[in-house]
Amino acid sequence: MRLLSKTKLMALRQCPLRLWLEVHRPELREDSSATQASFTVGHSVGELARQLYDPQGRGELIEIDGRNFGAAFVRTRELLQERRPIFEAGFQGEGALAFADVLLPHGRGAHAGWRMVEIKSSTRVHEHYREDVAVQAFAARASGLPLRAVALAHIDSSWTYPGGGDYQGLLREEDLTEDALARAGEVREWIAQAQAVVQRRRPPLAPPGAHCSTPYACGFQQHCQTQQPQARHPVQWLPYRGRKLDERLAADGITELADVPDDWLNERQQRVKAATLTGRPYFDRRASAQELAQHKLPACFLDFETIQFAVPLWRGTRPYQQLPFQFSVHRLGRGGSIEHREFLDLSGDNPTLPLAQALIDACGRQGPIYAYNAGFEGGCIRALAERYPQLAPALLALAERLVDLLPVARAHYYHPSQQGSWSIKVVLPALCPDLSYDALDGVQDGDGAQQAFLEAIAPATDADRRAVLRRQLLAYCRLDTWAMVRLWAAFTGVQHIQSKG
Ligand code: SF4
Repeated sequence: MRLLSKTKLMALRQCPLRLWLEVHRPELREDSSATQASFTVGHSVGELARQLYDPQGRGELIEIDGRNFGAAFVRTRELLQERRPIFEAGFQGEGALAFADVLLPHGRGAHAGWRMVEIKSSTRVHEHYREDVAVQAFAARASGLPLRAVALAHIDSSWTYPGGGDYQGLLREEDLTEDALARAGEVREWIAQAQAVVQRRRPPLAPPGAHCSTPYACGFQQHCQTQQPQARHPVQWLPYRGRKLDERLAADGITELADVPDDWLNERQQRVKAATLTGRPYFDRRASAQELAQHKLPACFLDFETIQFAVPLWRGTRPYQQLPFQFSVHRLGRGGSIEHREFLDLSGDNPTLPLAQALIDACGRQGPIYAYNAGFEGGCIRALAERYPQLAPALLALAERLVDLLPVARAHYYHPSQQGSWSIKVVLPALCPDLSYDALDGVQDGDGAQQAFLEAIAPATDADRRAVLRRQLLAYCRLDTWAMVRLWAAFTGVQHIQSKG
């Protein structure tokens, strides 16, 4: 019988083909940047958990040497004699193997045993975590460990960091002992199913679907897509499909847009279908101009870049709170003049107060403030107002002036190249072909901006590299708001904008 890790058993639970590929064709896996970023977050939370569960530093972290788990199992057995915290203790039994994030001595005398805590960087207990913990507990008990309690610790997003390195309260525990121990029979079945899958010489059949991204983004999506017959105009380009339409399409085996009956689609979906099949863009400029005519000049065009930390870095902030560190504002005057203002703080200190002050100054007192998906900017501004009551009236006044360009684009413009998306990254080159994010050096999207910011504030980053990152971040954010100016001009038909500013 092949020994199967918890990761492999969880792969089976997502998709048998995923497990087969993990075992037989691991070189085909391509983890997305989001998946890799989530690994980094997981590591930082794991490190912090070790401090929280072992404040005196009595415990030991077992280093796992590649795929040679033997040494880890031996060290685990040695440490179990010492009754002190163990991190990454390894267990195997009945065909399963797992490593426990945290293992703590529990009970005394005849009741002496261990308590296991699984650490997750999410903010709640998802259903698949219960399966994960059940496998963990199964492997530990199958190895002979007297396991008395099992818990899952996740981030408490309502907790506020008091500063000074005090992270007590960041993790919230939920006891899963009863649930985890009761699922031993299920885990045995998963192991048997997984053994059958990995012994197959050929991969099991599993067409891609919603399970490819839930509960985890599968790293084999690229590979699996290439194995499917390629639709010329895939039905996935239809926006806002909803489960009902997806199920209808799947039930009838429809993959081509051309084969979707019109009466299954709403007006916007019909528009997308027609534009795609004819190759002709849809643009109701009169309607977009009419909609925007109520907002007079001068106008501002605003975009934020934000960062979130699972483990807060700055006092007074919460886990995963959206914290703006940069903005760009283009101001368009009545005569078409353009002025540009920007803010970027790479000092590593909390940038939100100086950013809020600079924002109030940059946006002036009147005129609409355009944003693309303005709910995001509005949320950031209101959060700043809550955090800095002395600036609240001025900040809330800015939030009141926000006007969203995204619904205007959705309602009145569609180009076949958008492939069902109204992201500004695809609308811009369609409507203004002289502009594109691809021309930017380095930072080209929000994820890239976050990575650049984190690198720039890291103490190990030297001044030259920081200067390069600063230049890239400023160029990216500036293009975001200049793109909005150009979209506004296209939607309104106004042509007398003087320059890029
Ligand atoms: S992409 Fe989807 S179908 Fe392919 S292995 Fe992953 S989960 Fe399974």
